[in-house]
This record gives sequence, C-alpha cells and structure tokens, in this order.
Amino acid sequence: MNKKILVTEPYLPNKQTFNQCLESIYQNKWLTNNGPLYQEFTTELKKLFKSEHLLLVSNGTLALQVAYKLKNLTNKKVITTPFTFAATTTALAWENIEFEFCDIDKHTWNLCPNKTEDRLKQGAIDAIVPVNIFGMPCDMEAFDFLSRKYGVPVIYDSAHAPFSTYKERSIFEFGDIHCVSLHATKLLHSVEGGVITFKYKEDFERAKKLINFGQDDNGIVNEPGINAKLSEFHAAMGLCVSKEIEELINIRKKLIALYKQNLEDFFLFQHASYDNTVTPMYFPIKCESKKQLLNIKSKLAANNIYARHYFDPSNLKFLSSLSIPSTCNKIASSVLCLPLSSQLSNVQVNTICKIIKES
Ligand SMILES: *Cc1c(COP(=O)(O)O)cnc(C)c1O
Repeated sequence: MNKKILVTEPYLPNKQTFNQCLESIYQNKWLTNNGPLYQEFTTELKKLFKSEHLLLVSNGTLALQVAYKLKNLTNKKVITTPFTFAATTTALAWENIEFEFCDIDKHTWNLCPNKTEDRLKQGAIDAIVPVNIFGMPCDMEAFDFLSRKYGVPVIYDSAHAPFSTYKERSIFEFGDIHCVSLHATKLLHSVEGGVITFKYKEDFERAKKLINFGQDDNGIVNEPGINAKLSEFHAAMGLCVSKEIEELINIRKKLIALYKQNLEDFFLFQHASYDNTVTPMYFPIKCESKKQLLNIKSKLAANNIYARHYFDPSNLKFLSSLSIPSTCNKIASSVLCLPLSSQLSNVQVNTICKIIKES
C-alpha cells in the first residue's frame, strides 16, 4: 500500500541546527520571557516580513485576540468574511465583539471591498477584519481607502499570507495590524506560535505590555493584559525553520506550477486582477459543484491521498443566527485543497492530477 499523502505535512528543520539551539537553551537556562532566541527570531522575522514593529506571541488566535483588544473592539461591531478558519470569528466572539458577514469576491475569495463599503455606509461598524485567504492578498489599497474614508481600522488575519505581496510591496505595509499564525501546519512554523505586526509604534508599545499581563518594563500594570508569550523552545523551532524558508518556498512554488500546468484546462484557480504574489501554503482548486468536489475527494482517498474541503461556514454552528452570503456559499462548497508540502514529489503531484482528471 502506498504511503498516505495528507493535505499538508509539518516541516521539521535540520536536526543538528535545532540541537544547537536547544544546547544554547540548556547553557543559558533562559526558557521564556523575551529570551535570546525570541529576540533572534524577532530580528529574523522583521527582515523576512519587511516589518519594523512586530511581536511574537504564543499562537495565531491570541494574536487576533490581542489585536482586537488593542483596537478596543469589545462590545462593538466589526465586518468580516465567513470564508476563513474558525479562529477569525471565534476570537471575535471570545472578546465579546459583535460581527456581521459581508460577501467575498468570486475571484479572490476574499472580502469584497465594494460590498464592505455598502455596509459601512449604513454606519455602526467599528473595524474591518479581512482575511488573506489561502495567501491571496485582499485588495489592500481599497481597504486602506475605506479605512480613511470611514475612520475605521483594518485588522488583517494574515495567517496564510506571511510571504504574499501586493503590487510588489509587503502586505504588512497595508492596514493597521496583521496577525500571522506559526502553527505546525503552516509554512513557517514554531510548533505553536503567532506574530502581530503593527503600522503604528504606539500600538506596538501597548501590545508589548498586553501580551505580558499588562506589565510595563517596571512591572507596573495600567490595564489588564494576558499571557501570550512565546517560549524559547518554540522560538528555537521557528528560527530553524525560518533559516530554510527560502528553499521551502521555492520547492512549493515549483509544485504549484506543476499542479497548474496539469489542471489549468479543467479547473478555475483563485486569482486577482491586481499584481500580487501568493504565499505557497495551500493549493486550492475550484470544482464545478459540491458533487464534483466530493467525487474527487473520495477518488483520491481511495488512493490514500487526502485532499481537504476547508472552511465550510456551515460548520460554525454557534453562529446559527448569521446568514452566509451567496458567493461565499458557492465558493465554500466547491473549493478543494490538494496536498502541498515540501516533501511532496513531482511524481506524486502528477499522480494526484491523473486521478483527478480521471474522476
Ligand atoms: C491557523 C489559522 C488561525 C489560527 O492560528 P493558530 O496559530 O492555530 O492559533 C487563524 N486564522 C486562520 C485563517 C488560520 O488558518
């Protein structure tokens, strides 16, 4: 029997390099609280993300919660997309923030700026929370324009998009705040971990206290915070993966190119009308219908290959009172993510495409 091919596979970095990091932790006996590896990983990420103000935190969900708290959104209302991982909205609910779903664009699968403006015109919205889904950058200039026009902040869930660019610029140059996940299933990971990036230094300074119980450098607490620190062990993993990230990105980009070459006559892909690059974290295809999706999924499974039907908003049962807009329903029921990892071979990609085309 063939080895299982899963939709993704966590990457384990060079063991020797990782052991050297662990050895340094044993030498220093500094396990968490802004340790040397945390600082080194922060410096590395500033370069990789081209972002001056960023904070490492213990996971991507806490990154979102801290960002929402920072913009004082508790008991207020935001507009967001339903086509995303549950954490975008569960973090809102956890912070007692009301939210409304706005529809997505049928090409980018991201929050539609025009429909967002229609809703903003009616008032009583205090922030926009777009998601750069599957690494596709939103129309970021459009959201910056809306942000200025309506005086509301933009907080991006960029969990999938750390290496995406918009019009040849780092995505982190746009919006007020971005939240990135460094979870084991993500391309750049620290087992568990997250990053918050800030446009404004004041936001960065306040968040730095918020992730450490609210304490300033002298231990004074002027407002309550939380513990969202990243440990040295996690920073070690993140640092080691980040040293290999360029190579990992290149491998995945080639696999995506091969998938596209095989499947472009048969399926639509996520795309945008503006210049962009997409972080190669997922490879989603749009099927004609849910029926076709389920058929492909089961044919692949019969060959021990596991594609994934991500982000079906009907899974969010706690939101029974919110209706899902129509484009989102269509996209969510017909998008299937094919296996993608740096361990996947060209031969395996060709096999997957052959099974799909014969389905
Ligand atoms: C993974 C993910 C998160 C949550 O990140 P964690 O690090 O797992 O807490 C949030 N939003 C999206 C879109 C994600 O895919």
